[in-house]
Amino acid sequence: MSSAHLKQRLIKWVRLYPILALSVLLLAYLLGGFSEKDNPLIPQPVVITFLYLFVGLVPLFFIIAFIVVGNASDKEFTLNKGDRSKLVYEDAFDLPTQVMHGYKLALITGRAPTLTGLTGDTYLSDSSAKCTINTEHIPPVAGCECGFYAYKDLADAKFELSINPGAFLLDVDLYGIGFTYLRGYRAETQVVNLLTAPKRCMRCRILPASVFVTTYRLGYDDISWWQWQMRCVICSSSFKATDKLTVDQMCDKLSLKIRSA
Ligand SMILES: [Zn+2]
Ligand SMILES: [Zn+2]
Repeated sequence: MSSAHLKQRLIKWVRLYPILALSVLLLAYLLGGFSEKDNPLIPQPVVITFLYLFVGLVPLFFIIAFIVVGNASDKEFTLNKGDRSKLVYEDAFDLPTQVMHGYKLALITGRAPTLTGLTGDTYLSDSSAKCTINTEHIPPVAGCECGFYAYKDLADAKFELSINPGAFLLDVDLYGIGFTYLRGYRAETQVVNLLTAPKRCMRCRILPASVFVTTYRLGYDDISWWQWQMRCVICSSSFKATDKLTVDQMCDKLSLKIRSA
């Protein structure tokens, strides 16, 4: 298993920790750990010692696991970088050709809605990649970072979405010259097939999401921007008509299909 997958699994376990801790407390209570009775099912000191161990050892285990996985992914990164410098093709057109279908995340930013990658690059639903580092590059270039990226696996993209709650899930096809990686692709051109709209309001997380609204986000330095989110009827009620778009209107603006999750 790769270190990225290990990290995903660890984070899932960390999220379960509060439930685990409550269950342990409940179990301790049921076993008589908090009662003053003379002969509880399990002696009080045993329960208390176990609780101390649980509170102390489990977080310690997570810390150690994160350090180990972090080190492993650093090593993997250096290894990949080493490989990349050896990535020399005699003829670029001999690169493996295959259908590059994948998934990725995007924000919708700007007064006029625009797809924006998590790194800040904006793009249309059908476009060719541009290199921001070297204007002479026609992405993807082996030694550079340019090109459109996508995950092969929907599960990887969904996990990223769970830690980037302001983003939307995209289904994309990549064309042209491409590189394949363990978890995804980097390629020359990209067509966005579909944007998956969240089921629930992106603010209250309870009611069904029904309409797009835009808010102005203040950031550090000059990074302030308009960001579009999907909200429910209540959380969108205070917005002016000019700051709202229906799903159909958003489809037109972005020229792509939107489907509910
Ligand atoms: Zn480049
Ligand atoms: Zn809401």
